[in-house]
Amino acid sequence: MYDVETIRADFPILSREVNGKPLVYLDNGASAQKPKVVIDAITQAYAEEYANVHRGLHYLSNLATEKYEGTRGIIAKFLGVKDEDEIVMNTGTTMGINTVAYGWAMPRMQAGDEIILSVMEHHANIVPWHFLRERHGVVIKWVDVDSTGYLDPQAVIDAITPKTKLIAVTQLSNVLGTVVDVKTICDAAREKGVAVLVDGSQAAVHMPVNVDELGCDFYAITGHKLYGPSASGAIFMKKERMAEMVPFIGGGDMIREVHKDEVTWNDPPMMFEAGTPGIVQQIGLGVALEYMMNVGMDNIAAHEQKLRDYARARLDGLNWLQVQGTTADKAAIFSFTLDGAGHAHDISTILDKKGVAVRAGHHCAGPLMDHLGVTATCRASFAMYNTEKEVDVLVDALELAHDLFA
Ligand code: PLP
Repeated sequence: MYDVETIRADFPILSREVNGKPLVYLDNGASAQKPKVVIDAITQAYAEEYANVHRGLHYLSNLATEKYEGTRGIIAKFLGVKDEDEIVMNTGTTMGINTVAYGWAMPRMQAGDEIILSVMEHHANIVPWHFLRERHGVVIKWVDVDSTGYLDPQAVIDAITPKTKLIAVTQLSNVLGTVVDVKTICDAAREKGVAVLVDGSQAAVHMPVNVDELGCDFYAITGHKLYGPSASGAIFMKKERMAEMVPFIGGGDMIREVHKDEVTWNDPPMMFEAGTPGIVQQIGLGVALEYMMNVGMDNIAAHEQKLRDYARARLDGLNWLQVQGTTADKAAIFSFTLDGAGHAHDISTILDKKGVAVRAGHHCAGPLMDHLGVTATCRASFAMYNTEKEVDVLVDALELAHDLFA
């Protein structure tokens, strides 16, 4: 039985007040709160187990290395990856996608080669490809979503040409909540020899993910949305793709030997992990992922689907509010605008006065905002610890905002 109150008790920040009201934290799409086990693990790592990793032969360095490296296996298990050497640990999705852009795409793509993106990608999965467009003449082909925010996998497949080298697509939109059928895309792409990078920043938070079953070439996650520390994360990279790559960032740890006129690389995944890593951040991420697996990804998904249905019904009852993204298969992420109301920022300021934290702005999704014909939306994004009562508080606060602006 999923007991949301027991889960809430694990997250210390949820019992605080904001502006004199109980905190209703609905900005999980931006970053999630941390359970006490993660906070404790971070404290313990610094207080009792801290040293640099991979370097020393002393007790603490070995202990820190063991803990840090332990996270690699936890990430592999969490993502359904059999070989943990296919997991590169990093600071999050932005770093992961840049690693692929610089390490895999740049050396092998020429002017006229094509990358397919959906219109609802986050800037982290757009801007690195703009670098290739600007500097190497690579062509970005955009695939639109329909009026409900649904991305037809067949439309992505139909966009493949002999020039296509990569499809880079989110599995779950951070703005619309749309879940994308990436497996169908991967199956078709594999047959045509096209690589697929999946941005799993949001999907891995809300649904069980099995990367080996998906069959993608790259899968990026970001720790701070997964109830872990900021600047933690990882990217799965298929062994065959790693073998085709050059290192992206140079420095300590990623080399085997360095001489005045020669340098050789460490084996992957170390080849992609230059410099002192986020030791404690990754240790914290391991604990966060174990926490999620203990709760159970199926249980989290089921709880959030109930919340989604409840929130959808309540928001649909507000005829002056337009939700962007109404497709059936979506997460509990609601972006909306209000008739006659001021800017999304004004609405979020009013909600904040009621203790309700939402995001306002373009959500790092410029092309999607253009597609929707809006400059900004408010976004309420739910997590495993949110409740139906909090949906009610959100709706009451929205009614107040609407009354103020009407
Ligand atoms: N992709 C998606 C879908 C996101 O929601 C985010 C974060 O908002 C990112 C990528 C970037 O993640 P990070 O800033 O942690 O690298």
